[in-house]
Amino acid sequence: MQDKIEDNLMEKIVSLCKRRGFIFSGSEIYGGLAGTYDWGHFGVALKNNIKQCWWKKFVDNRRDMYGVDAAILMNSKVWEATGHVANFADPLDGKQFNTMLKTQIGAKKEEVAVSYLRPETAQGMFVNFKNTVDAFHPKLPFGMAQIGKAFRNEIAPRDFLFRQREFEQMEIEYFVRPEDWEKYFEYWKDETLSFMEEIGVDMSKVHEVEIGDNDRAHYSKRTIDFEFEYPFGQKELSGLAYRTDFDLKNHKLDYIDEEKNEKIIPHVIEPSFGIDRLVLVALLSAYHEDEKGGETRAYLKFKPSMAPVICAVSPLLKNKPELVEYANMKVFAPLKAEFGRVIWDDNGNIGKRYRRQDEIGTPFCIVVDFDTLTDDTVTVRDRDTGEQERIKVSELIEFIKNKLD
Ligand code: ATP
Repeated sequence: MQDKIEDNLMEKIVSLCKRRGFIFSGSEIYGGLAGTYDWGHFGVALKNNIKQCWWKKFVDNRRDMYGVDAAILMNSKVWEATGHVANFADPLDGKQFNTMLKTQIGAKKEEVAVSYLRPETAQGMFVNFKNTVDAFHPKLPFGMAQIGKAFRNEIAPRDFLFRQREFEQMEIEYFVRPEDWEKYFEYWKDETLSFMEEIGVDMSKVHEVEIGDNDRAHYSKRTIDFEFEYPFGQKELSGLAYRTDFDLKNHKLDYIDEEKNEKIIPHVIEPSFGIDRLVLVALLSAYHEDEKGGETRAYLKFKPSMAPVICAVSPLLKNKPELVEYANMKVFAPLKAEFGRVIWDDNGNIGKRYRRQDEIGTPFCIVVDFDTLTDDTVTVRDRDTGEQERIKVSELIEFIKNKLD
């Protein structure tokens, strides 16, 4: 079965994403725009779950992290100071091609200024370092965290979500005393791996790769890439970089350590995730096929906490008002109020509904049938095993809550 799954896996994922409303080609009805994708209802839900898990783990659950949401358009002096205008380039026919997306600001010709759509979220945090220190007086070590869009004029966008021109990042800049950098580099390596595991990445396909002196970004003294075995090869999923004091120094920023009464430039450890690649890896890790009733079925085995839909509710027959009313009022409405990510599905016969929900990755399908009207129990079908059990309607919320934990 495993060999069969790997056959055309990317094509299967791309087509499932379109068919089931996860991800579409950008501007599709006008022939598309290379390197852009649009997100449908279930894709947004999956992406939001990943973002929320990251924010909870690295911001809400900690005392040393400060959130930021900086503007995408920044003064072009930022990118001059960091060396991006000079160095952020890929080779193209023997020349260096700067991959920052240029734009112009201002309406009157004489006032028009060149600006860039940010190629990384990191600088939005560095330029707010002083604001953060002045507002919150954090003690070292502390971090800043940001989720947001980044843009790169990639020469050859490809491999679905893997290499786009517009994508999203989740980055942390963690500020430490210079002598502590190695300790915190190790610490963030472990945190990176534990986050991947939490969102359901197939860890048997993740590899840590030490990046050599000649291949690191211009600002980094040590980088580890976490690579994943995609169907198109082993490539980067996320990165961990020791950015030294490069950015703060270039922005002429420093920090007063009040306890030691000294002025220092903190050093920076940067764990950096691309959300789009994480979504792709979450899809690839979750994709399974098996035989059910003599047919091959495809299903996305998401952890319930990551699934775009936690449960789908169906009346057995949609032309029986007593079933529809019960399902709507006594099952769907309370579950929807409790969990939000709950959908109503009465399209086609039950078998078809199950196949559809399997492809969406819905862990539980709940069916209201004629027995429900007399005994107040419903059928709950498990996505992975296909097994069904009768659960009391009054115990449904608790049942699902336990599975989510
Ligand atoms: P690559 O070597 O694959 O071009 P990179 O080393 O330039 O990636 P970073 O600058 O470290 O990438 O960016 C941090 C993260 O942002 C990457 O680990 C990746 O997940 C994501 N990312 C970078 N470029 C793209 C892109 N073009 N499309 C989607 N995600 C991207």
